[in-house]
Amino acid sequence: MLELASLSKKYRDGSQTVVAVAVERLTVKAGEQVALTGPSGSGKTTLLHLISGLLTPTSGEIKFDNIAVSAMPETWRDAWRAKHVGYVFQKLNLLAGLSVLDNLLVAMSFAGAVPKPDRRSWGKQLLAQVGLADRLNSLPHQLSTGEQQRVAIARAVANKPRLILADEPTASLDQANANKAMALLQQLAQESGSILLVATHDREIMSLLPRIIPLRQPEGQVTSYAADDCLA
Ligand code: ADP
Ligand code: MG
Repeated sequence: MLELASLSKKYRDGSQTVVAVAVERLTVKAGEQVALTGPSGSGKTTLLHLISGLLTPTSGEIKFDNIAVSAMPETWRDAWRAKHVGYVFQKLNLLAGLSVLDNLLVAMSFAGAVPKPDRRSWGKQLLAQVGLADRLNSLPHQLSTGEQQRVAIARAVANKPRLILADEPTASLDQANANKAMALLQQLAQESGSILLVATHDREIMSLLPRIIPLRQPEGQVTSYAADDCLA
């Protein structure tokens, strides 16, 4: 179960403070599949970064299966993320020097969820499921953006994570490939009873997910001129 309480993230931007995320309370049960929706700038990416522990909150708490992720020291958080979180980044973040298959194998080597002898065939199976069986040895830059997006999806689920976070995972895909990608995410999440959180503003994608959480731009998002900046 994922629990957020009194969560906020503020960014300092020059002399202004931007409230990117403000969530009073949110609970997502194991196995739930959720769309996080909202216009550009409503804090979807920031919220997914907070949940994955890549960012720390300005205030409040994030708990996953009763572990306070937001309170962990950074090195623990990195190990926790490698083991439990699959993240399809908005900017994909594929390793440019490694082949498609090696991108998955490296991710698997960090988590230890899949026994070593099984990794290659599991990686190939996932890549086949996203329609990339014939691109295993390509480098990311040799693929289209849509194909790269499918690699990122296969990599995110490679460790059978308890928590799958996907940031606009179908943004560069045509409808057929978007459906294929969502089917893979949803099928693997369901098989392992994992939480799936998908940031999206695509109505077709929203209609595939049983729960929709709208994020609204916090009222008066630029809240203040920081006093200490004014004094500087
Ligand atoms: P979304 O993913 O919904 O488009 P983001 O989480 O990217 O929203 O951004 C939420 C708000 O936080 C926006 O107003 C954005 O400009 C601001 N923001 C995001 N990252 C930073 C940053 N590193 N520094 C300052 N402001 C930021
Ligand atoms: Mg975003």
